[in-house]
Amino acid sequence: MEAYIQMLKEQNPEMAKYFEMMQPMMEKKETIEETPFIDLELEEKIKKMKRINQKLFAIIEELKAQLNFELSQNDDIAKAIGACTECFGENIDCTECFGTGKPGNNVPDFILFNKYVQPAILKYNKHYFNKN
Ligand SMILES: [Zn+2]
Repeated sequence: MEAYIQMLKEQNPEMAKYFEMMQPMMEKKETIEETPFIDLELEEKIKKMKRINQKLFAIIEELKAQLNFELSQNDDIAKAIGACTECFGENIDCTECFGTGKPGNNVPDFILFNKYVQPAILKYNKHYFNKN
């Protein structure tokens, strides 16, 4: 910008006077920095909202992890009893089984059956029939 003004001054000596008169104002303008208005109350509210947001994000992440764990466990239990992993055969609109995936509809998973069902059978028999 300064180089351009200098060139204009050289090309037009009449204009040079005006530029020289304006020079202090232009310099002054450049040095004045407006201090931004800071609304402390608003800034505090923003900080508070950010803290709340961070807490909510943390809660959402915990809920996602919990949901994934429970969905995985639900699938394992359905496989342990040979049921549909989506609905356990309780939804005729189920896209996986159309309501036919009740427990025992599929061959139970050997490992998952022994993990989840076998201990329950032992306890069941011991409690109701006093068998071991
Ligand atoms: Zn189903």
